[in-house]
Amino acid sequence: MDQGGCSVLSENLWKEALKLFAGGVNSPVRAAVKPYPFYVDRSEGAFLYTVDGKRLIDYVLGYGPLFLGHRHPYVEKKIIEQVQKGWLYGTPSPVEIKLAEKIIRHLPSAQKIRFVNSGTEATMLALRLARGYTGREKILKFNGNYHGAHDYGLVEAGSAATEFNVSTSNGIPLSIRNTVEICEYNDLSCVEKTLKKEDIAGVIVEPVMGNMGLILPEKDFLKGLRELTKSYNSLLIFDEVITGFRLGLSGAQGYFGINPDLTTLGKIIGGGLPIGAVAGRAEIIDLLTPSGKVFNAGTFNANPLSMAAGLATIEVLEREKVYDTAKEATKAFSEELSILLERKGITFTLNRIESMFQVFFGVKKVTNATEAKQADKNTYFKMHQRMLEGGVFIPPSQFEVIFSSGAHNSSVVNTTIEVTRKVINEL
Ligand code: PMP
Repeated sequence: MDQGGCSVLSENLWKEALKLFAGGVNSPVRAAVKPYPFYVDRSEGAFLYTVDGKRLIDYVLGYGPLFLGHRHPYVEKKIIEQVQKGWLYGTPSPVEIKLAEKIIRHLPSAQKIRFVNSGTEATMLALRLARGYTGREKILKFNGNYHGAHDYGLVEAGSAATEFNVSTSNGIPLSIRNTVEICEYNDLSCVEKTLKKEDIAGVIVEPVMGNMGLILPEKDFLKGLRELTKSYNSLLIFDEVITGFRLGLSGAQGYFGINPDLTTLGKIIGGGLPIGAVAGRAEIIDLLTPSGKVFNAGTFNANPLSMAAGLATIEVLEREKVYDTAKEATKAFSEELSILLERKGITFTLNRIESMFQVFFGVKKVTNATEAKQADKNTYFKMHQRMLEGGVFIPPSQFEVIFSSGAHNSSVVNTTIEVTRKVINEL
């Protein structure tokens, strides 16, 4: 085995891929693994098995959805059962009712829901709903928050948009760009000034920022957003595509005790199959077609396979100790990493919450996107590469999060820690 998880089979596939796909991939962050991505043959639990015959401990987990690990037996069983009953009907199926009821039961601010197919679609729709509900045009988002790959979201976006230096994408009409106001995360005075000056339909925020590495809301930031949006009659939209069902069954809103007007969901609620959703107060969701005049439709909306996988996933979250196991894994991994870095005298910041963390080198605090961009991402990348060589896959980009799952038991974590010791000693 040579470079990272890669070898000759991955290299050959990569050569083919470069002829077929822009930059060799179908989603940019995948090309951040150098010199080329490893190709995966199969997965199970906390592990990916590459076509080159290597086993990797996976802390990327599909960039968040696989909170039970790969191929949880119950989810697999439910997906297979649904496959055998058909996977697209073009008319409603009972499983969409079951999943909706579960989400609404757990998510404090949700009364009604619309299922779509990705987080991108969910935030695009939530913003349209905010404009439809208020009759206003502008939205406010935060520098480095990532809400998916649509025109409104790709203004000062984090995640791969930052990694590949296109925080604001080419191809976005100026007329749309001009409807997006930007504030720094954790800066309430900017939010207040903007709400006072402009007619803002909605403020969209990642309640915990997971697309600039991990950045936590400062005390009272979310509460301040709630109060300010209320007093300026603007909607508060929590983008819980990452945090929904990860910070707990009630998401970030339950964790912090703040109820938004609308919530966007994705990732975990589809159990690893494509999904997105907008949930919120009934009077707002009812503005959607066919009951209202804010249009949304989708051939694959509420497709039975994603519904079955999502329902099975939430059932497991309700009855197994996934939250404890995943949190313990993150705690043990990140605490050991901190000790090792301190011992070496390396300056760093490590942000952590529940089953998510990220480390930033060369900086003493990271509370917003500007500070995150000052971190030494070369050292982070070097750590990623060395970890990969040792059999541990953490995100290749500084602007993603290291996730744990219910499959990251103590034996998996102990192996991770052994690799980390070696990597940091040689860093
Ligand atoms: N919102 C957030 C907070 C996200 O992290 C992401 C994806 N990482 C999205 C929206 C977009 O979701 P999708 O990739 O499913 O379109």
